[in-house]
Amino acid sequence: MGDLTTNTEEAYYHCEQCGKPLFPGDKVQLDSEGIAFCEEHAATLSDLIAYWEPDLAEDEENAGWPEFFDDPEEVRAKIEEWKARLAAGGDVKLLQEV
Ligand SMILES: [Zn+2]
Repeated sequence: MGDLTTNTEEAYYHCEQCGKPLFPGDKVQLDSEGIAFCEEHAATLSDLIAYWEPDLAEDEENAGWPEFFDDPEEVRAKIEEWKARLAAGGDVKLLQEV
């Protein structure tokens, strides 16, 4: 854990969970809404599936997906994609470089 206060470079993102500033070259999980998580707090594929699969089963009014997806088919397609990646490459985190 570095001393974050001495880093004066401008952060591109901040981790949604811990507030850690994320700089170019850092590995982050970034969603389509621009919400970022640091490597430590990024969800694994099984976390994502475990989160969204029951959410998709909820009534649309109670579900969380309409905030992030346009329709249930999009969520279902994402879950299928994650399951395929999980089967092919194991339970990894979907990280990208800032
Ligand atoms: Zn974090």
